[in-house]
Amino acid sequence: MTVLDQFRVDGEVALVTGGASGIGAGYAEAMAEGGADVAIADVDASGLADTADHLRAETDATVLPIEADVTDEDDAERMVERTVDDLGGLDVCFANAGISGLGNKITNVSLSDWREINGVNLDGVFLTTREAGSIMEEQGHGRLIVTASMLSFVAEPAIGIGPYVASKGGAKQLTKQLAAELAPDVRVNAVCPGYVRTSIGHGLLTETAAESPAVEDLHDEIEGRTPLGRFAEPSELKGIALYLASEASSYCTGSTFVVDGGWTAI
Ligand code: NAD
Repeated sequence: MTVLDQFRVDGEVALVTGGASGIGAGYAEAMAEGGADVAIADVDASGLADTADHLRAETDATVLPIEADVTDEDDAERMVERTVDDLGGLDVCFANAGISGLGNKITNVSLSDWREINGVNLDGVFLTTREAGSIMEEQGHGRLIVTASMLSFVAEPAIGIGPYVASKGGAKQLTKQLAAELAPDVRVNAVCPGYVRTSIGHGLLTETAAESPAVEDLHDEIEGRTPLGRFAEPSELKGIALYLASEASSYCTGSTFVVDGGWTAI
């Protein structure tokens, strides 16, 4: 097997939550291009349909869109069951669905906002990895990949994103616990992106900037603080996704893979 063969996921089945847009749609494309069939789960029905059409047009993969809310226990169970029933198994699962924050300082965050953000970013990752992880444990193999964030390592005082930062810290630590409990059959790793040009990475800052004159040049400031000098494109997360999903990463588990243009290096 050559090193390039190690990156193939032919004949495998991947499930991507938050797969209708942004980073998750990129992960789904990476899996489909690598040879897998793909289920994409999301609350956004029209985004799911668009992304499924795109994947079918661009790849040979069988694509299964599933409308599901990762904060709902029944939905989490159902999306995993449908993937197994309709696509014939589950080898790789990306717990990727997430929401950001509201631009408030932590001292101004309401409990309901705190719970909403942690509900998707932490409860949702728990439910997704619990359901997918138990199938993988039973079958004796699988890979779980959690989208955390570089903000699981460092704080971001500029944009009032405290609940998000806390949720991503929890998701990163949950990744390590899962890796320890599910080894050696199931490998579990986290991707920790920096600022990515998606509705979360870019849109949040637009809203925040509009509300807060003190940070109206936030985009420029962020680009200026990033050693690579720009936001990432979602497609720039595809490589790490395929690496972690495939045999190429066979000795990695419980690890965090930072893809942040150098943000946390300085
Ligand atoms: P995005 O908004 O394009 O994608 C998030 C997707 O999750 C959307 O399609 C949305 O509909 C879906 N979603 C939201 N709540 C859901 C729920 N309850 N159930 C199912 N689906 C739900 O943004 P993105 O940047 O692609 O975000 C993907 C992941 O990457 C998130 O976990 C995010 O926190 C993380 N991340 C993003 C950045 C960034 O700068 N964009 C940086 C670090 C980490």
